[in-house]
Amino acid sequence: MTIRRLSEDMVNRIAAGEVVERPASVVKELVENAIDAGATRIEVVTAGGGVSLIRVSDDGGGIGRDDLALAVERHCTSKLDGGLDQIRSLGFRGEALAAIGAAARLAVASRRKDADGAWSIAVDGGRLGSLEPAALSDGTRIEVRDLFFATPARLKFLKSERAEAAAVTDVVRRLAMAHPHVRFALSGSDRTALDLPAVGGDGARRARLADVMGRDFRDNAIPIEAMREGARLSGFAGLPTYSRANSLGQFLFVNGRPVRDKVLLGALRAAYADLMKRDRHPVAALFIEVEPREVDVNVHPTKADVRFRDSGLIRGLIIGAIREAFAGTGPRTSSTAASATIAAFRPAGRAPVWPPSSWRPPRTGGAALATGFAEETQAAFDIDAPSAAVRPAGSSAEAVSRPLGAAMAQVHDTYVVAQTGDGLVIVDQHAAHERLVYERLKRGLETNGVARQILLIPDIVDLPPDDVARLAERADELAALGLVVEAFGPGAVAVRETPSMLGALDAAALIRDLAEEIAEWERADTLRDRLDSVASRMACHGSVRAGRRLKPEEMDALLREIEATPNASECNHGRPTFIELKLADIERLFGRR
Ligand code: ADP
Ligand code: MG
Repeated sequence: MTIRRLSEDMVNRIAAGEVVERPASVVKELVENAIDAGATRIEVVTAGGGVSLIRVSDDGGGIGRDDLALAVERHCTSKLDGGLDQIRSLGFRGEALAAIGAAARLAVASRRKDADGAWSIAVDGGRLGSLEPAALSDGTRIEVRDLFFATPARLKFLKSERAEAAAVTDVVRRLAMAHPHVRFALSGSDRTALDLPAVGGDGARRARLADVMGRDFRDNAIPIEAMREGARLSGFAGLPTYSRANSLGQFLFVNGRPVRDKVLLGALRAAYADLMKRDRHPVAALFIEVEPREVDVNVHPTKADVRFRDSGLIRGLIIGAIREAFAGTGPRTSSTAASATIAAFRPAGRAPVWPPSSWRPPRTGGAALATGFAEETQAAFDIDAPSAAVRPAGSSAEAVSRPLGAAMAQVHDTYVVAQTGDGLVIVDQHAAHERLVYERLKRGLETNGVARQILLIPDIVDLPPDDVARLAERADELAALGLVVEAFGPGAVAVRETPSMLGALDAAALIRDLAEEIAEWERADTLRDRLDSVASRMACHGSVRAGRRLKPEEMDALLREIEATPNASECNHGRPTFIELKLADIERLFGRR
């Protein structure tokens, strides 16, 4: 066996494979270069999903004639003056242009701000061309044609033209989110154009995020702002009710660099863990700023991963800031839910017909059907009396001024309708109660344990021995949550005390349910980590105020408790616990506005 040194050409091709995976990675490198060069306008044009053409033009500082040849050479960079731990630019590896030149036909034309003319240089599959004068009024224009013609193996791994074009869009959007003061324009025969105007001033980031992520996000996110030991977190976090089925709405940045970092994504998930069902994902755009030496951006050729010196600090910063932000927002729920509701209410262009053609008067108890319209309606009401406890309006002027207003009625034994100063609120009493129980359990755990009631006669619940063992193992933790159980022989447990807040309950059903829940976990999970699932199981078994008729005082008490409880606007599954309709919206529905 002989050992040979790889040729320069071979080295470049191997590096090219690492840095340049697909057209989107080329666009990422080129746009990052333009941002590093201080551009205020960056224009990207693609064709054939970026395989036949990528052109990136900017109005940045440019490259001087004498530097052009160096710029396209491997390991040449102008950005490492302070050393690897002082990186403030997006680039620093000095291999992007060389790698692109090795894999494609690259042409770089540039003009330094103070130079009299522009110059260009070409690299064709690794072969360097000569310096030529070029026509360019300012900045830099980089053209990449026939990507991977020199490394055809790569071509096989590319997806469809559409998918590659979409990946390019994604890269541009991510970079644009972090740099609102730069105008980004993306166009080409293979795509719909994207034009993001430069925005400045205080609301710049918010405006850019709205342009990129949609206005919905802006209206359903709250600002996040926190500092901890020199690390700064800012950005916007979506309301828990504004969640998605996947994590594609999560955008994370470290020092202006878009990253997909496990630590950060994990922290984001943990921050919402209490507020969201496990199969839902939060939407957020978070920006972390740390001293360059606190983060290693050099752990991956495409720079998408980072490593923090103190990742616990960053994790704590994210979790703490988001939780605090939501605890401080008071009752608030996603506006999209309410606007969708309004859309559902709104008659589609014409007045709704009543009774609808499919409507038949209910035939109950052989009641005689009246013929007149008024009587017919009346009869229907008499037969199917609405399951509502109603209180006369205006009976509680003080409560109306509260955020959730004064309870007016309960409908279908499930929803409480309340009047507020400028609208009405509908509360899902079951979801709300579940949330309140959960928060109370949590509070109880943090202070001195959850209040319990002793059963006069212990409940003996028969269970498979595995389940008995599992529950016995967790007995201490369960006791802290107000549930005292002990093994009662190999095939049963005795339930001695239950959480008082749950009232009288079917202990056997609760125990079986909990055993099932615990059996699904990996061993290491503590009840505390799974408080969410334990508490919602418990809440479901208590004398939950669902399907139960409430007295007006009980309804008001429920509303007041929701107001006083942090995070109460969502149930443990991230569904809203109440929705609000503004009087203005109601008036619009009736054409009064
Ligand atoms: P890096 O960005 O890691 O330094 P690149 O290969 O991407 O490496 O670029 C090499 C050098 O070329 C950069 O350090 C920079 O000096 C110069 N350069 C590249 N693109 C531009 C641009 N759009 N405007 C000005 N200078 C550029
Ligand atoms: Mg670069």
